[in-house]
Amino acid sequence: MEAILKVENLKKHYGNGSTIVKALNGLSLSVHQGEFIAIVGTSGSGKSTLLHMLGGLDHPTEGKVFVNGIDIFEMNDEKLTIFRRRSVGFVFQNYNLVPILNVRENIILPIELDGGDIDETHINLVIRNLGLHSKVDNLPSNLSGGQQQRVAIARALATKPAIILADEPTGNLDSKTSQEVLILLKKMSQKFNQTIVMITHNEEIALTADRIIRIEDGIIACSQSDRFGVDHHD
Ligand code: ADP
Repeated sequence: MEAILKVENLKKHYGNGSTIVKALNGLSLSVHQGEFIAIVGTSGSGKSTLLHMLGGLDHPTEGKVFVNGIDIFEMNDEKLTIFRRRSVGFVFQNYNLVPILNVRENIILPIELDGGDIDETHINLVIRNLGLHSKVDNLPSNLSGGQQQRVAIARALATKPAIILADEPTGNLDSKTSQEVLILLKKMSQKFNQTIVMITHNEEIALTADRIIRIEDGIIACSQSDRFGVDHHD
């Protein structure tokens, strides 16, 4: 099976000479379609830098990122912008919803910005699966934090992206709501065969994922998969 996401010897260095910071130091990784991956590591280990590279938000110093077999940094800026819009769904800690748009309008916004056709059947399925059907006309300000994050997840799923990148998606939520959001993320990855890469500094949060990848000093320190019977849950 071809990996949907492949990272080869990725390096990102900031500064130079004696002040050089090697945020990523030759990191390689392969992710299959439908996998839900958690990237864990302490503050400063390189998680955000990695996520930025995976989403084509910043260029690496060296190395490659392939999404669906395409070397994303071979694209010019215009193509990379279109790639980001169509092939990557972003979920942020602070939800990033547009306050003057209702839930449904927020969810379809990326498709409208891209001038694409709205797949109503898919959108309604996403809305139902995230338990948002009774909230579609609400403004974000009338929703709880957990509900707002569910809207952000729906918005990410709406474009059927190759990958969803989630940056500390439960960082602003209490522990019970965090669990609910994580269970939904996992359910969505299974239901829509959606590849999700989530970064978190919270070990508990990571346990919901199919695979946990720990990074230290910009490289993978270890990788642990649920499928091999490692029991994280007691
Ligand atoms: P994490 O997300 O795990 O906290 P980061 O990817 O943000 O880690 O940072 C990794 C390292 O790179 C840190 O030492 C950080 O200070 C450094 N770094 C990140 N962004 C920049 C930048 N724009 N300029 C210089 N150093 C940076």
